[in-house]
Amino acid sequence: MKSQLLYINGEFAEASSAAVLDVIDPATTEVIARVPDGTAADAGRAVKAARAAFDHGSWKDATAQDRGRVLFKLAQIVRDRATELAELETRNSGKPIVEAEFDIADVATCFEYYGGLATKIQGDVLPVPDNAMSLALREPIGVAGQIIPWNYPLLMAAWKLAPALCAGCTAVLKPAEQTPLTILALASSFADAGLPPGVVNIITGRGETAGAAIVEHSDVDKIAFTGSVEVGKIIMRAAAATLKKISLELGGKSPNIFFADADFETAVEGALFGVFFNQGEICSAGSRILVQRPIYRKFLDAMVEKARTIKLGPGIDRDTKMGPLISREQLDRVQTYQAIGKTEAKVALGGGRPSGGALDRGYFIEPTIFYDVDNSARIAREEIFGPVACVMPFDDEADAIRIANDTYYGLAAAVWTRDIFRAMRTVKNLRAGIVWVNHMQPTYVEAPWGGYKQSGIGRELGKWGVEEYLNVKQVYINLSEEPINWY
Ligand code: ADP
Ligand code: MG
Repeated sequence: MKSQLLYINGEFAEASSAAVLDVIDPATTEVIARVPDGTAADAGRAVKAARAAFDHGSWKDATAQDRGRVLFKLAQIVRDRATELAELETRNSGKPIVEAEFDIADVATCFEYYGGLATKIQGDVLPVPDNAMSLALREPIGVAGQIIPWNYPLLMAAWKLAPALCAGCTAVLKPAEQTPLTILALASSFADAGLPPGVVNIITGRGETAGAAIVEHSDVDKIAFTGSVEVGKIIMRAAAATLKKISLELGGKSPNIFFADADFETAVEGALFGVFFNQGEICSAGSRILVQRPIYRKFLDAMVEKARTIKLGPGIDRDTKMGPLISREQLDRVQTYQAIGKTEAKVALGGGRPSGGALDRGYFIEPTIFYDVDNSARIAREEIFGPVACVMPFDDEADAIRIANDTYYGLAAAVWTRDIFRAMRTVKNLRAGIVWVNHMQPTYVEAPWGGYKQSGIGRELGKWGVEEYLNVKQVYINLSEEPINWY
């Protein structure tokens, strides 16, 4: 199988070494493609192209309207290619095709949103106490290094590229080792969208090599990263050497809180959706399910009954509701936590691997529900990134908030109740970047996304997302022709 190519300076390009990475369909474990195992030298070539495009290329002179039009064109291309991209996303990531279709539509919407925002980035004129004019200009930060994970491959690429292009930056993006295919496929349309050479460059490769090289490069002005807390910390340290601006979207151990008065059926569905969507491979997974004591047992039983009906299978089958995990490594990780959980809590459902037919081939795992989990247990503290739910009881509002906030993370949280007073108090008291009331997971490109505490730094999406790619320049214009007369 011939290897695919890198995308540098507007062209698909050979890597500097012949080393390749196998790309797998996790539903079958078959190798479906090979991509370059990009080196530091490859990353360097991409940064050079991005630097030149930012400093001298036509992108530098592109107006906000021009940049907006490119983003609108990209959105249209994504819509035109939606069927192909969704299928490729499912084959490469394992996720159910219906979910992949939503992702691809969200990709297009993200490009559109930032296409519209490009012409709304504006500075300020400041009232100053002298005969002078004081301005605050907003300028693109420069070359953005963007490192993304495998759970939402093309969507995470869009969340990074769209605001960068909106701001006028250029980019070097590294997809995750496991899921490079959809962004490489889209790169074939970059020129058609009107992106000048060098504005977006794609480097496939491993985190510790290609990724680290982007982070360390002195010509990169900013790093945007989504991934594990562990790597987030490595990136923050590495970025210190050149004092790069960073934005980090990391993990979570998000609480999903159910008060006894919540609408029961919807709440049960919400608990499952919150933690099992996308095989639980979501940074905002509601993996700690806090249930008020009066409904605890009934709620757990209803969750189990409904979870039994979740149809596992290859993502490409339309009726599949849960696909395989992304990789052998991830399967091992989730199995390890299943084993740990059995020593720490009680199993209500799952706890192993499913079998039979297609399930024997891929990296499938049973949706697993532990209950009577103590919040100090490892399965309640550590991010598992798989379909593993920890159900725990609580007494009252204060108890729920105490347990919910007792975590190093702070990405997301949700509360279910019909009592508006309690809902709003809980929203106020939860320390998380996103809080849902009577739902969990839906989010929009218009709204900010990011974490409190160790869940990250900065915000993506909405008007906040573009801020991460802008610098502020103060301009002082003296309007007085009087001599300064100081010396
Ligand atoms: P996971 O362990 O679930 O794969 P990671 O945080 O390791 O999550 O990976 C997310 C992204 O970060 C991937 O694109 C990966 O290649 C990249 N990455 C991993 N390690 C590093 C590193 N040391 N420097 C830069 N990027 C890295
Ligand atoms: Mg890793």
